[in-house]
Amino acid sequence: MLAAVVMLTAALSSWKAEIESRGVAVVVAEARQSAGGGLAVAPDTPHLDLLAPYLGSQDFAREFALMEASMVFQRAPGREVAFVLLNGDRRAEWESRQEALIAHEFGHAWIKAEKYPAPVYVSGGPHACLAIHTGDITQHVLIRREMERRGIEYRRSWLEQLEKVIPVRETAPPPPEEDRCARAQLAAEWVDVKLALKPGEWPAQARYEAAARRYMPEVASTVERIADYVRRHDLSDRGQHREALKAVFEMLKDLVYYRAKEFRVYGTLKRKRAAG
Ligand SMILES: [Zn+2]
Repeated sequence: MLAAVVMLTAALSSWKAEIESRGVAVVVAEARQSAGGGLAVAPDTPHLDLLAPYLGSQDFAREFALMEASMVFQRAPGREVAFVLLNGDRRAEWESRQEALIAHEFGHAWIKAEKYPAPVYVSGGPHACLAIHTGDITQHVLIRREMERRGIEYRRSWLEQLEKVIPVRETAPPPPEEDRCARAQLAAEWVDVKLALKPGEWPAQARYEAAARRYMPEVASTVERIADYVRRHDLSDRGQHREALKAVFEMLKDLVYYRAKEFRVYGTLKRKRAAG
C-alpha cells in the first residue's frame, strides 16, 4: 500500500509553502510500477485526474523506472500542479537522502512557479533529450543556489553518486553511437560538476573528469564551452536565462549530432586507420 503523505522536513515544508503561494499546488507522492505496465500512486493523491495520463503511459513508466524522482507539471483551468513523484521501487537507494532528492524536484517546481522561460519540449526523439538536458543545466544553477540559501545539504550524496560511476567509466566501452542522448546526458552531469564545485572541494574531481574524458572524449569541449558561457551570464535574470537556453541547446545539439571538435578529429583518425 502506498502512503499518500510523504513526510517533509521543515526546510522542505517552507519551500513548498512558498511555491504554493505563487499559485502552484505541490503534491509529493510515491509511485510504483503497476501490474498493468503503468504507474500507481495512492488513490487519495490530490489532483489525481491531472496525473492520470502520466500514470497510464507505458513510455513514462519506462523512463521513470530509471529515475529516483521526477517533477511533472500539469495545468488545467484554474489549477497548476507540480507533482513530485518519488520512485517507490527504488526507495532503498534514495531513502537516506530523501530531503536532498525532494529538494531537487522542488527546485524545478519553484522555477516553474517563478515563471522562468523553459526550453520548448518536443516529445520523443533526440530533441526531447536536448530540451531536458538544456533545462537541467540552466535550472540546476539556480536550484543549487536556492538549496544553499535554504540550508539544504545536497552535495555529499550527489558526489557519492558520482563517485560510483567513476570506476565504470574508467573501463566500460562508450555507449553505442546511435544512443545520441547519452552524450547530452553526460555533458549535463559534467557541466554541473564544473559549475558547482570550488577548486579542491571534491578530491575525486580530477579522476571523475579523466574517466568522463576516457569514456566519451567528444563531450569534453562542449562541457568547457557551456560551463564558460554559464559562468559569464546571470541566469537569475530572465532575459539572460532565455538567451542561455538557446545557447546551451545549440551547443548540445552540435554535440549530439557529432559536430563537436573532438568528434571531427576522431572521425579523421578513424578514416585514416581504415584507409591504411
Ligand atoms: Zn534536475
